[in-house]
Amino acid sequence: MNAAIPRSVFPTPSRTRPVSFFRFASKNVNKVYFVALHILVATVFLVPVTWTALGLCVGFYIVRMFGITAGYHRYFSHRAYKTSRWFQFVLACIGCSAMQKGPLWWAANHRDHHKHSDKEEDPHSPVRHGVLWSHIGWILSQRSEGTNLETIKDFARFPELRLLEMFYWFPAFILAGICYLVDGWSGVVWGFVVSSVLLYHGTFLVNSACHIFGSRRFETTDASRNNALVAILTLGEGWHNNHHHYQSSANQGFHWWEIDMSYYSLLALRSCGLVWDLRKPPAKKLHPTASVK
Ligand SMILES: [Zn+2]
Ligand SMILES: [Zn+2]
Repeated sequence: MNAAIPRSVFPTPSRTRPVSFFRFASKNVNKVYFVALHILVATVFLVPVTWTALGLCVGFYIVRMFGITAGYHRYFSHRAYKTSRWFQFVLACIGCSAMQKGPLWWAANHRDHHKHSDKEEDPHSPVRHGVLWSHIGWILSQRSEGTNLETIKDFARFPELRLLEMFYWFPAFILAGICYLVDGWSGVVWGFVVSSVLLYHGTFLVNSACHIFGSRRFETTDASRNNALVAILTLGEGWHNNHHHYQSSANQGFHWWEIDMSYYSLLALRSCGLVWDLRKPPAKKLHPTASVK
């Protein structure tokens, strides 16, 4: 083990001391804001609906989904392409603004998902642990606290990422402030609250629906499926059976009709010189190994 890397940036909380409300809230900040954001969706009835607010909602959904799919998933979890250290940090900040914890936590858990996919040790298998668990239960569980930095030591060696991991909520607060400056409370409610909740469930559909509903082109050792609707909602992540078949590919849509907005965006970034060495599956990996079920 690399001595320079702390074992976890989220030490296991003591269970022997009495827990005050504030200590509980600080230890479970991710759960507190997850629940709070869902409750705050009700405030859509208290603010005017404006075109600007709706634009913020859609715009920040797309930008932050890209931070999750192209950043947290394809880059930090799978190293499907290369980029510079400063743009790596930008991707991490955009991902953090989605309020799904830091890139090290996210990617470490996702690597565990692939390592144990649809086995007992899978953090969020709907086949093993049920749909509700795979969708939101695992996020709220104490078992999902902490980050095994050994699993993500290739990125944990960057001090700026470890710092961001501790303050992963900060980019989201900046984003909420931008929403307020642009369109007041309507901007905050639609551009931040509603957009973040939609973003949660769009992302979580990959963990739940894409291991239950859809077709299987490849005979993988898990229950992963290609789901076109989820692919549209998640900028290409719904081609999940393709992804489990060849995980390190920058594109998850393997054919022209499999819309993959994250990949098209990465191609645009590559043309600007911001990312490079996008990995693609070799031709022999594209042959179907299973019929549609
Ligand atoms: Zn999966
Ligand atoms: Zn993956």
